[in-house]
Amino acid sequence: MATRYKALQEAEAGTIGSSYDYIIVGSGIAGLYAALLAREHGSVLVLTKGSIDDCNTRWAQGGIAAPIGAGDSAEKHLRDTIEAGAGLVDEEAARVLTSEAAARIEDLVRLGVPFDTSEGEIALEILTESPDPAHPSRRLPPHPEPIRGSSGRTGGGALAVRAVRALNAMTDEASEYSCRHLILATGGAGQMYRVSTNPAVATGDGIALAYRAGAEVTDMEFVQFHPTALRLPGVQPFLISEAVRGEGGVLRDVRGERFMPNYDERAELAPRDVVARAIVDRIEGTGADHVLLDVTHLDRGHVIARFPQIYRFCLDAGLDITREPIPVSPAAHYTMGGVRTNVWGETTLPGLYACGECACTGVHGANRLASNSLLETVVFAQRVVQRTVESPGGSAPLRAGAVALSEAVAAEAGVPTREAVQAMMWEDAGMVRDAGGLSRAKAILSAWDASLPAPTDRESQELTDLVLCSRLVAEAALLREESRGAHYRSDFPEARDEWRRHLVFRGGARN
Ligand SMILES: Cc1cc2nc3c(=O)[nH]c(=O)nc-3n(C[C@H](O)[C@H](O)[C@H](O)COP(=O)(O)OP(=O)(O)OC[C@H]3O[C@@H](n4cnc5c(N)ncnc54)[C@H](O)[C@@H]3O)c2cc1C
Repeated sequence: MATRYKALQEAEAGTIGSSYDYIIVGSGIAGLYAALLAREHGSVLVLTKGSIDDCNTRWAQGGIAAPIGAGDSAEKHLRDTIEAGAGLVDEEAARVLTSEAAARIEDLVRLGVPFDTSEGEIALEILTESPDPAHPSRRLPPHPEPIRGSSGRTGGGALAVRAVRALNAMTDEASEYSCRHLILATGGAGQMYRVSTNPAVATGDGIALAYRAGAEVTDMEFVQFHPTALRLPGVQPFLISEAVRGEGGVLRDVRGERFMPNYDERAELAPRDVVARAIVDRIEGTGADHVLLDVTHLDRGHVIARFPQIYRFCLDAGLDITREPIPVSPAAHYTMGGVRTNVWGETTLPGLYACGECACTGVHGANRLASNSLLETVVFAQRVVQRTVESPGGSAPLRAGAVALSEAVAAEAGVPTREAVQAMMWEDAGMVRDAGGLSRAKAILSAWDASLPAPTDRESQELTDLVLCSRLVAEAALLREESRGAHYRSDFPEARDEWRRHLVFRGGARN
C-alpha cells in the first residue's frame, strides 16, 4: 500500500536505512527481477509509487517472446526483430536480446513463474492456427503472472547519480537515500496521450529524471500505438489483442462497412501501424471516436475459449462480444525511446543504470516486435546486475552530435494539466504527424516546461515529467522529416536514407 514503504531485503528485518548497495526505482517486471538478482549481492531498496499492480507489466496479455520452439532459433528471432525495427535496431543489442532469451525464460521458470505447460514443456502459442499479424513464427509463451514484491514511495528527483530523493506518497515528505548503484525501472510514458493502454503511473518519470540529471535520452519520437483498444465510455482502454484479427475478426466503420481491404492487401492482418492509421482515417471520415471490431460471425464457443480475458472484461463492462461488435480505437501503447543505455544497461552517467521500458537499448528500433518488451526487461535487468558485480561504475559513451534542446520559450500557453497535455499530444504528435501540428505542440510544451514551478507532490511531479517527455517527443518528431516505423509524417510519407540515424537529447540539471 502507498502508506508504507519497505525494501525487499529490509522487509523481513522491519528496518529501513538510508544507504543501500542498490536502489531500484520501479516495481514492474524489470525492477522486481533486478531486485531479486541484486539481493544476492547486497542490500536493496525498491522505491515505487502506488500499489504493486500499478504498472504496465500487470496488463501484458500477449506473451513474452523467446525462440525456444522446435524449428525456431535466436538467429530467426534476431532477423524478425531487425525487420520490425525499420532500419534503426541496434544489432548488437538485439543479438544479446535474442541469444539470451532462452536462459532468461529458464530463470523465470526457476523463480517459480507459472507459465502454462503442455506435456511438461512450456506451452507455446501456435501461431499457424492463430496468427499474431506482426509475428511470423511460433514464439510466445503465455504471459506470466507478475512477480510479487514490495511497494511504497515515489522517486522524485536524482540529487546525484548515487542518490535519490523520494516523496512519501501520503505525506509528500521527502527523504534521501544513497546507494552504490541506482537502477531506473520506471516503465514508459503512455500517459502522454489521451487514449492509452498504459495505467496512470506511466508518466515517464525515469526518463525525465535521467534527462534532468544529464543523461542521454534517445528515440523519443517512436511511440507505438496499438490499433485496437476498447473504446467504451467510462471504461479503461483495455487492449483487444491482435490475435482477435488473426482469428478472423473484421474491422468495420460505424456505418458497418469493412474498410481494411481498401487500405492494404493484407487487410486486417496488415502491420500494426498500417491498421492504426487506417482506423484513424475511418474515424475522421465518419466523425465517430471509434470503429468496430466484429467477431460475431465466428463460433461463439471458440471466441470465448480463445479469448477468455477479453470476453470476460467486455462482459463485465456490459458488452457480449459474441453478439455485438467491439468499439475500438488506437491507443498509445509502448514507448520505444527512453534513457539511452549500452548492452549492460549503463546510461551515459556513471552509476546510473536503466532497464525495461524506461530504457532505450536500441532493440526495438523504430517499431517494437510484439512481445519483445517483456523479454527486454528480463534480459537487460539481468545484465545490469551482472555489470554491477563484475565491472561497476562504468557508463555508456556519450554520442557525438547529440541534439541539444532549444531553450524553452516562455509564452502565452495557459496552465498545463495532464488532460491538456494528453489532448495536445493526441491531436498534434499522435499517429499522423505534420510540421504544423508538431511545431505548435513543441512551442506550447516548451513554454509549459519553462514555466512549471518545482514539483511539490506526486501529481505535480508527474505533470512536470509528462510535459518534459512530451516535449522531447514533439521536438524529435518535428526534426525527423520522414516516416519510419511507428513515426508517420503526412508531409514526409516515405523513409529517407539520411534519416537512418538516432536523435539523442542530452539533458542537464535545470530544476
Ligand atoms: C495492455 C498492455 C499489454 C501488453 N502486452 C505485452 C505483451 O503481451 N508482451 C510484451 O512483451 N509486452 C507487453 N506489453 C508491454 C510490457 O508490458 C511493458 O513494456 C513491460 O511490462 C514494462 O515493464 P517495466 O518493468 O519496464 O515497467 P512497468 O511494468 O510499467 O513498471 C514500472 C514501475 O515503475 C514505477 N514508477 C514509475 N515512476 C516512478 C517513480 N517516479 N517513482 C517510483 N516508482 C515509479 C511504477 O509504479 C511501476 O511499478 C504490454 C503493455 C500493456 C500496457
